[in-house]
Amino acid sequence: MSNGALLRCCGLSAAVEEKQILHEIDFEVPQGEVHVLMGPNGAGKSTLGHVLMGDPVYDITAGSIEFDGADITELTPDKRSLAGMFLSFQAPVEIPGVPLRSFLRAMVEGRGEKMKNKEFRKQTKALAETLDMDPAYLDRELGVGFSGGEKKKVEMLQLLMLKPKLAILDETDSGLDVDALSVVSRGMELYREQCDGTLLIITHNTRILEHLNVDRVHVMVAGRMVAYGTASLIEEIDAQGFERYEAAVAID
Ligand code: ADP
Ligand code: MG
Repeated sequence: MSNGALLRCCGLSAAVEEKQILHEIDFEVPQGEVHVLMGPNGAGKSTLGHVLMGDPVYDITAGSIEFDGADITELTPDKRSLAGMFLSFQAPVEIPGVPLRSFLRAMVEGRGEKMKNKEFRKQTKALAETLDMDPAYLDRELGVGFSGGEKKKVEMLQLLMLKPKLAILDETDSGLDVDALSVVSRGMELYREQCDGTLLIITHNTRILEHLNVDRVHVMVAGRMVAYGTASLIEEIDAQGFERYEAAVAID
């Protein structure tokens, strides 16, 4: 393994309610690269995303997580977020009574960033416009009555305001419609262009990857990393599915 990885997992194993889900995961994502995590339903992809972010539902039973040169295995989710990690939620939150703009403001301030109100308004408005989002949404209550595509826009707005070092986007079973798909795709491109961001994308939907240069693909089956390769692996999996990987795990 190289020394320059932004994210590195060594022998990472995790359980929920004593049920072992992740088994000795080794993988790394170098700074500035785009990595894709694929695998059949129930493989443990979302679990890995949550474990990386420090979701207390999961117990880390072995191994470690390093981020940006520090061991973060024991850190709480807010500390990981402060360190520069971001995980998109599959089911975005709704907070009645809290306007989207106030939520974004609290988020940026939680980062310890000082920003004048005028500048903040200017930035959020410009970002909303780049995402084809009516800036009037910034004054609406967070998530309340938003469509799937609008919720994704909020998520991308968060991503582009926070500018994390690493964004883990879990898009698997959320059934994104065409509108939401193009929003996520655009958001990822902007994040790459504006923030030189590092991406770990969990997806079945290979269309979402069309505008990105994917550096590496990791394949997960039954809680194990079973293969990795270059972007050509995506086409192969599209055509052939995960059967040969599943068969290999079954023999073990
Ligand atoms: P994927 O995202 O690859 O479809 P998941 O990570 O959602 O897979 O799930 C992997 C396995 O872990 C599944 O068997 C799932 O039922 C189990 N699992 C995940 N989270 C929990 C949880 N909070 N409680 C119980 N089982 C869970
Ligand atoms: Mg999932």
